[in-house]
Amino acid sequence: MLTPDDASPPLASWRPQDVVDARFAALARLARRHFGVTTALIMRIDDGRSSLLACAGETFGAALLDLSSCGPTFADEGIAVVADARADERLRDHPLVIDNPCLRFYARGPLIASSGSTLGTFCLFDDKPGELDDEQREFLRDLARLAAMAVESDSAAARLQEEADALRASEGRMALAIAGSATGIWDRNLQTQEIHYSAGWKSILGYADDQVSNRIEDSYQRIHPDDLAYVLASMQAHFDCKTASYDVEHRIRCQDGSYKWISSRGKVVSRDSAGKPLRMIGTTTDISTMHAMSERLQQSVDLITSLTDEVPGLVFQYRRLPQGESFFSYASAGIWDIYEVSPEQVASSEAAIDAIIHPDDRAAYRASLDTSAASLTPWDLEYRVQLPRQGLRWRQGAARPRRLEDGSTLWHGFITDVTDRKRIEAELQEFATIDFLTQLPNRRHFMTHIEAELARIRRSAGGCAAVLMCDMDHFKAINDQWGHALGDLALKHVASILRGQLRKTDMAGRVGGEEFAVVLSGAGIPEAIAFARRVQQRLAATPLPEGEQRIALTISIGIAIMTASDASVDTALSRSDKALYRAKESGRNRIECL
Ligand code: GH3
Ligand code: MG
Ligand code: MG
Repeated sequence: MLTPDDASPPLASWRPQDVVDARFAALARLARRHFGVTTALIMRIDDGRSSLLACAGETFGAALLDLSSCGPTFADEGIAVVADARADERLRDHPLVIDNPCLRFYARGPLIASSGSTLGTFCLFDDKPGELDDEQREFLRDLARLAAMAVESDSAAARLQEEADALRASEGRMALAIAGSATGIWDRNLQTQEIHYSAGWKSILGYADDQVSNRIEDSYQRIHPDDLAYVLASMQAHFDCKTASYDVEHRIRCQDGSYKWISSRGKVVSRDSAGKPLRMIGTTTDISTMHAMSERLQQSVDLITSLTDEVPGLVFQYRRLPQGESFFSYASAGIWDIYEVSPEQVASSEAAIDAIIHPDDRAAYRASLDTSAASLTPWDLEYRVQLPRQGLRWRQGAARPRRLEDGSTLWHGFITDVTDRKRIEAELQEFATIDFLTQLPNRRHFMTHIEAELARIRRSAGGCAAVLMCDMDHFKAINDQWGHALGDLALKHVASILRGQLRKTDMAGRVGGEEFAVVLSGAGIPEAIAFARRVQQRLAATPLPEGEQRIALTISIGIAIMTASDASVDTALSRSDKALYRAKESGRNRIECL
């Protein structure tokens, strides 16, 4: 059935001068003349919208156009014919037919696309009734076919144009992007072994447009000799499909002979059926600035690494996370000497170190770090380590902490080997406290000890200690008779006898030339006398050998008891001195108490 509402809006505004395509106009004229009708016209239907392609003859306003864009279903052969609109029951009451009494004959053929879809209609109108015989129907079909072919070729051309426009737009954007990123483009033909470079590519290297040849061999000449093998290998790998793309960084010679670092990336875009590459396109980016920067950075890193590795000891960065895990985020090569582990072994956990710290120092080690972290004060500690190869060694650590945003504590510092210093310190300590000749505590050390003993006595209720002063008898005469060296031997002999009689808590010291003092901790007079006797007896029993002779040595001993009531050690010492004096007075080789 005719549905006048199908008429499309553009038709109402149609003007004959809009139809400019000569091909469709010629077809319409040909049809009008051939069929001897009032009007022949060609309509285009695209997505339900109609437009006029050509019209020859009378248009009866827009009526024909409306009628041609709607209408009865096409018959199987594709041609619809209305012999007389007024007699046709489908059209006779149609407003168009009633309004245009001269519209009598109407025929149309569809414009069929190669895909089978309908592209439009080819219509004939006449003011008299008529008919089309088979031959005429065939001719109308041919005309419609010709029109369809023209419409199709127009559509194809329009599509191509659209694609070309889109490509141009994206190429434009690409060109802008490429120009802005200091990137050049190359296009290599692997069959002819020619390579073409964009102007941008040439300008990166300072070449004018005509200064670069298109021969691939020449391109290899520009690559830095040290980089050539690597570049060729990377390219071959991509040709052999071992890599998804070609991506290398290398030096390339510029027009002025200098070298620039570039990043070259490309891809084979076509291969023959055997997979042989035919064409490769790629980009070249100037990365010399970036490369220089990264080289400077690397130099700084190398310098720091060399410095920290050459410094004796361990230079470190140590981090403790808020949850408590600790690790050395950086450790110089010195960690091998300091802890006999590798930087990697402590990079994620310090468990390896913990086991190395001497058990007696482990608590202090942990506590010192805890304190440093809590108060953000410098960490400073001397501690011992027990190492598989070096054995027991002393370490000194020093580091400054700071708090990071995530709550971690980060220390920077160093740890050095102080074993030798510790040994020297111990030696010096000994030097300062031990009498060289007799190896007994010297006067100063003895005094420190006796002071501590008095303090202990004062702390303990009813505590006491025996203080003995011992002086060798007639020692001057021994020196005079046997010589000073023998006198020294005599002093050593007495010292060793004294030492042999001491308990752990006692101490004997050389407090003068041939004078020795003894403190017997917790001892009263009887124990002190017993001690003094043992010393005298031992001395009597072991005279000093001198060649064939035996030199008898005797010693006088004065005893006093030091208690909490003594105002100072001197009062106790002077009592024992008095007792000693009494022993000398009473004939020597005696024991006197006060
Ligand atoms: P007394 O029985 O009254 O104590 O007589 P003494 O001779 O032992 O006493 P005196 O104080 O007259 O002499 C002590 C001597 O000890 C004098 C000094 O030459 C000697 N003497 C002091 N220190 C050393 C030393 O380190 N080595 C040696 N060989 N003799 C020393
Ligand atoms: Mg003396
Ligand atoms: Mg003497």
